[in-house]
Amino acid sequence: PKRDLSYNPLFQVMFALQKQLTTARSTPSLTWEIGEAGSLDCAMFDLTLDLVETATEIEGHFEYKTDLFDRETIARIAGHWQTLLAGIIANPEAQIAHLPLLTPTEKQTLVQKSLPDDTTVKNQGIQQLFESQAELTPDAVAVVFQGERLTYQQLNQQANQLAHYLRSLGVKEETLVGICVERSLNMIVGLLGILKAGGAYVPLDPSYPQERLAYMVEDANISVLLTQSKWQELPKNNAQVVNLDADWSKIITYSTKNPGVSAVDKNLAYVIYTSGSTGKPKGVMITHHGLRSFTQTAIQEYNITQSDRILQFASINFDAAVEEIFPCLCTGATLVLRTDEMLALPTFFKTCEELELTILDLPTAYWHQLVAELKHQDVSLPESLRLVIIGGEAVLPEPVKSWQKYVNRSGKSDRLELINTYGPTEATVVATLYRIPNHSLVGEVPIGRPLAHLQTYILDRHQQLLPVGIPGELHIGGDSLARGYLNRSGLTTDKFIADPFSEEANGRLYKTGDLAKYLPDGEIEYLGRIDNQVKIRGFRIELGEIESLLTQHTDINEAAVIVREDAGNKSLIAYIVDSSSTLQSQSVRSFLQERLPNYMMPNALVFLAAMPLTPNGKLDRRALPAPDMSKQSNTKLVEPTNDVEAQLVKIWSEVLNSDLGIEDNFFELGGHSLLAVKLIGEIERQFER
Ligand code: AMP
Repeated sequence: PKRDLSYNPLFQVMFALQKQLTTARSTPSLTWEIGEAGSLDCAMFDLTLDLVETATEIEGHFEYKTDLFDRETIARIAGHWQTLLAGIIANPEAQIAHLPLLTPTEKQTLVQKSLPDDTTVKNQGIQQLFESQAELTPDAVAVVFQGERLTYQQLNQQANQLAHYLRSLGVKEETLVGICVERSLNMIVGLLGILKAGGAYVPLDPSYPQERLAYMVEDANISVLLTQSKWQELPKNNAQVVNLDADWSKIITYSTKNPGVSAVDKNLAYVIYTSGSTGKPKGVMITHHGLRSFTQTAIQEYNITQSDRILQFASINFDAAVEEIFPCLCTGATLVLRTDEMLALPTFFKTCEELELTILDLPTAYWHQLVAELKHQDVSLPESLRLVIIGGEAVLPEPVKSWQKYVNRSGKSDRLELINTYGPTEATVVATLYRIPNHSLVGEVPIGRPLAHLQTYILDRHQQLLPVGIPGELHIGGDSLARGYLNRSGLTTDKFIADPFSEEANGRLYKTGDLAKYLPDGEIEYLGRIDNQVKIRGFRIELGEIESLLTQHTDINEAAVIVREDAGNKSLIAYIVDSSSTLQSQSVRSFLQERLPNYMMPNALVFLAAMPLTPNGKLDRRALPAPDMSKQSNTKLVEPTNDVEAQLVKIWSEVLNSDLGIEDNFFELGGHSLLAVKLIGEIERQFER
């Protein structure tokens, strides 16, 4: 091995156990004497434990590199070792993996219990909390979209009319109702109407390919489907379709009174589909208990009041929208629905200012780009803004530092808070949060501590608690866990396991697949995934789903999909071994486009004669070659014909980091939603339109 002087080349940790030499010895020419070894100035190895066995005890000392270990860490290791030894003596037959490691105090802090649910509101659905709010503040503005608005009373009455109509169609507890609409006032009326009728909503994104939508409609056995006139071509299976535009005249003939259907905690509130590693998306079933517990905690954590104006940013196909919509509507605050145009980076904050928004809840990937905008003179943070919530994927330290600098410089540090939230859909939106302090950041940004209504554990693969600082799989416990995956009992049993720390017989833990560790101060740090699930621009993707779909193509023998990161830009690359050697990338693209949502489409396809393998015959992901992005487009390079085209081609080339002509396809050259936002921003800046 290459020599590195910073560590010992052969081993870095030493354990030595020796018998104490008791008597001095002598030979004819030498006299031996036992003396005290003076301490060295530097550690010989990274870590040494040197023990001496005397007649009555074993004593010794640790020697360690102070660059690598803190005194507290070594003290913890010493405590673990003593606990381990005591455990061995107490139970010499125990399997090694089950021997104890944590001291009693450590164990106590790591299994802290969540707060009990406030029993006074048990079996109240979010719709009842909203109804109480509508009674308190009937004239307050509940929701705004492009100049249109509904007060709490109007929203409640419209949702009631829809709910009565849905009841007449047979919707009741546990009925799954599809909702396929674009962002609009009707979208909010629709969600509340379904919940008020006692049903659970299943969002269906109108932009998804027909085949995927058809699968979801069938898998969820959707019997009633809410939609709008422009999405009439939807796959319906056996569902009755309610057209929120065309059928509205019929709906308003129904009563405006609260339907009085009270939700039972264990009933479903919504089912959200997320990528599935076996080739099909899976529906995560969330109950009213989970939705209510989360909503109430969020209201407290974000201190939401009637004077807040909250942006509705996320698509309802993702549970981030739940965080924006329900805490807002249960406190009398105003929900402001965004438009697509609002995403343009240079004007985003300005629009937020015009809309007088106080709370933004943004995907971390989009926020990273927004922070980069703050370097422009003409961009400033809205005066009204008091809280920015980010989440969905790991937040990078650099944008956080830039943000802190900007916020401090503009004198907003005591008025504007930034919170990093973490949570899988399966644990109802958010599981942990970290309030990012305004003083400068050192190291990584933690994901913080569990919300009051749930618990987190970091466990090894034998479900044993791991000490502070040791990476393991993050598990989440508590009543707000999803009921499981719809029609996937096997997967549900694998991912939702019995909670060994719960006093309740049916306590469960969700295995997140996230690798994490506890920091000494009790915060959790996210370290990555232990499987092939990835996050790209906030979208959760199982690489196995794309791979398994590719191998369903008749001409594809093998497929592997990876994420490549170049200069902070993540892209999906698909590697294909085709049986015919004549397969065209266009044919593969069309095949995928008919089955996958845009965010799961590979940015590049690479054809290989064979997959690179490791010596033991497994796919060697690291040996997969980098794609040549310029070869991804099928078109011949067509030069610009005038100045405007030339200027546009220049902007496109810079954003895509590729040579291109006026006929090229943005998405085939690695373009994606976030780069599109960047492109629009640059065009807006240079052309002022
Ligand atoms: P989803 O179910 O779409 O919300 O995705 C949940 C997954 O996203 C988690 O299991 C994590 O892998 C990742 N994730 C969400 N929030 C964060 C965060 N703040 N930091 C790091 N990873 C995150």
